[in-house]
Amino acid sequence: MIIKQFHQFVFVTRGPKNSCITDLLKGTMYQVENYFMDAFANREYDAVADFVASLEEEGLVIEIEESRWIPRQNFHSAVKEDDYSYQIDFEDGVDIESLRQRLSGLDVSAINYYGEGDPPKILEHIQTKKIEKDIGQCRELITTNGQFIKTTCNFIRYNHHYNSCWGKRLAITGDNLIHPCIYSDIVLGDFVTENLFDIIKKADAYWRITKDKIAKCKDCEFRYSCPDCRVIAAGEGGDLTAPNPLCSYDPYG
Ligand code: SF4
Repeated sequence: MIIKQFHQFVFVTRGPKNSCITDLLKGTMYQVENYFMDAFANREYDAVADFVASLEEEGLVIEIEESRWIPRQNFHSAVKEDDYSYQIDFEDGVDIESLRQRLSGLDVSAINYYGEGDPPKILEHIQTKKIEKDIGQCRELITTNGQFIKTTCNFIRYNHHYNSCWGKRLAITGDNLIHPCIYSDIVLGDFVTENLFDIIKKADAYWRITKDKIAKCKDCEFRYSCPDCRVIAAGEGGDLTAPNPLCSYDPYG
């Protein structure tokens, strides 16, 4: 029997009311009511003919012999410690030579400098990027009403395992303290006196605060494509699993 099935490069996340269909090849996202998804899954194609036609038009479905199994993308599989590289942020005041030495053994993919003047070169193969210290940029990034249309396969994969913002990130402030984020008061350790790998072990619990652990977001169909900021969400109360206060979308509504 021939049935219709989502292509193996289509990723579907279900929420309580709606689902998000993502074309992983194009990065395009579509929000649909669960009623359509249920009818499609139950093979009631005639009942949702327009929906099925639009899926076919977008190249999201294939027709396949029922007995043929196509493995789907599995983003939940465990990640090894070194599957993703580290991002390092630092301010003026950090000793550049010790930074250079201590980062040389790490798999670092990005280095950001939050200071005055030209950004100093830390590692040979990575350009240090200068960034203005302004949490307003983070506010802008997480302000949402749930209208998402684009994402990437890598972002979805990463967000299954790590927090989209401070995952695998270490921020060293000018007083040589290490935080999960340059805007965070949480202290993971002292850059000068403590072993970096002990600090990394401590940081892991913060890095793993994915949207699957965050109130409201854990149920939202956009949870793997939506940016996050735990500093803004935790606010004064300090609840690291608090929902994003700048999101007006109600996944239950
Ligand atoms: S509920 Fe959470 S995951 Fe959903 S749109 Fe809002 S901030 Fe993003």
